Amino acid sequence: MSDSYTLSGRAYTGRDLDLCNVELTVEDGIIKDITEKKTVDERWIFPCFFNSHTHLADTVAMDINFSGSLSGLVAPPDGLKHRILRDTEPEILKEAIKSSIEYMLKSATPGFCDFREGGEEGVLLLKEALLKTNACGVILGRDGGQNISDGIGISSTKEGPHTLDLAEKTRKNGGFVAFHAGEKNDKDIDQAIDAKPDLLIHMTYASNRQLKKCAELEIPIVICPRSNWILNVSSSGNNPPVKKMLEYGCKVLLGTDNVMFVQPDMFSEMSFLSYVYKIAPEDILNMAISGADIFKNPFFIEKGKPASFFSVLPAHSNMRFSRSPVKTIVNRMNFGLIERTYFKCLKKNNL
Ligand SMILES: [Zn+2]
Repeated sequence: MSDSYTLSGRAYTGRDLDLCNVELTVEDGIIKDITEKKTVDERWIFPCFFNSHTHLADTVAMDINFSGSLSGLVAPPDGLKHRILRDTEPEILKEAIKSSIEYMLKSATPGFCDFREGGEEGVLLLKEALLKTNACGVILGRDGGQNISDGIGISSTKEGPHTLDLAEKTRKNGGFVAFHAGEKNDKDIDQAIDAKPDLLIHMTYASNRQLKKCAELEIPIVICPRSNWILNVSSSGNNPPVKKMLEYGCKVLLGTDNVMFVQPDMFSEMSFLSYVYKIAPEDILNMAISGADIFKNPFFIEKGKPASFFSVLPAHSNMRFSRSPVKTIVNRMNFGLIERTYFKCLKKNNL
């Protein structure tokens, strides 16, 4: 398809996701005009999603039988996941990563931020996989991988004080800094906040004081609710404390975490968050889109911005009876109902 076209329908436009009847004019992949119209095609248009936290390489261990503690499963260097990654041929890891990226592309999620293990070699594998797709990825490496990627993804400050030095050094070199924090308890949160990171992942057990500090310092929080449940760190709609995060004014983003346990499917993640945590659909949709700000290239539908949206034809399914497209997309959508995704990655990672 050409990069210049018009598309008519009911679109969720701007950062406030205002529902308007519009015709979108796209030239060379850029939204040139958003014209309000009285009558438009029976089509819904939503911004694409950005999966703000993935571990794509552990696709190779998909749905492995597991038991035992969280650290026995995913903590570096010798958790089950890390042993499997070490023992898998690089070509198979690359194929697994690519297949999960392709799944995300099919489900209107052309952008993601991945914590990539395996040092420089691990980062290169993800970059090579990414180049074979039309997706845009932010890669946060570790064990040296941070030197050839977008920044560092630190497992936890529990690993020791050297993690803070690594964060500081990465920031000085212009890289992003992200930490897992508060997944099991609040013990690794204060140090992570003090490191003034660009992202904190989980915060499942963050206290009110810690959340207020994140709001004050404008540190975005990526929640991964399905991962928390399947890994038995949460069994309640109070952890992560999503309602409090929003109440205190934290920037909350959505991620799906390890592919070995959870499909990188933002529709399912949104639906789970809606049913279990009872969050308003507009807030959930915002969490699923606004991680793209990390790229400084947001996915919101705005004049002058790259086209990054997908369309749905409600007449083709029971969705034509919906009284609220945003509620329907959040609660009950799946990728089989997407008419088309409009997206072109304008910034590719160079090898
Ligand atoms: Zn993670």
